[in-house]
Amino acid sequence: MDSLFDVLEEENREERLAEVARQVSVCTRCDLARTRTNTVFGTGDPYSPLMLIGEGPGENEDASGLPFVGRAGKLLDDILAAVNLTREQIYLTNVVKCRASEELNGRIRNRQPNAKEIRACNPYLQAQLETIKPKVILCLGAPAARTVIDPNFKITRDRGKWYRAHGAQAMATFHPAYILRQRGEELRQTKLQVWQDIQNVYAEYEKVLES
Ligand code: SF4
Repeated sequence: MDSLFDVLEEENREERLAEVARQVSVCTRCDLARTRTNTVFGTGDPYSPLMLIGEGPGENEDASGLPFVGRAGKLLDDILAAVNLTREQIYLTNVVKCRASEELNGRIRNRQPNAKEIRACNPYLQAQLETIKPKVILCLGAPAARTVIDPNFKITRDRGKWYRAHGAQAMATFHPAYILRQRGEELRQTKLQVWQDIQNVYAEYEKVLES
């Protein structure tokens, strides 16, 4: 049975995240507020020792208000399923909470958030990290790794290695959307690397659960 302090902590975490999510929903700290449909705060278990951090919402996430939906979201579910994890067992968020987009040849397409937008949104990610206190962090893609682990992070050079960040063991791997853009031998190699990374992350997560 949970002690009184466990129960209070539980209420505090959920209440604190709900308050930060409320602030995000009305945030105008950067220009992405002007073009968003919905803010995308984060989902999952705020008591999980494992936090996954992506780059930012895309078109599907902007429309739904949920992180990692569409093809990249399905691939993320498959990556988690490879180690018998579901997104309900982890906490999932992004470095920016609004969609970054640009117009190209008359079409609106997703783009990476820029440094100014990431800086503006960083207090919200910090609040999530301080509230959830993950023991293991997996960054998905270079923008997340540069924000959370090291500004000089190079995803092809540094992925799959362990770092200390925010009091946690932190690693980065390729973003599911990047995997979906690969073809042929590059696709096979990228999938293999991500598979190795998620195995290592799961081993660290299991260690935390057993400790
Ligand atoms: Fe605010 Fe972040 Fe959205 Fe910019 S991306 S408007 S900082 S919530």
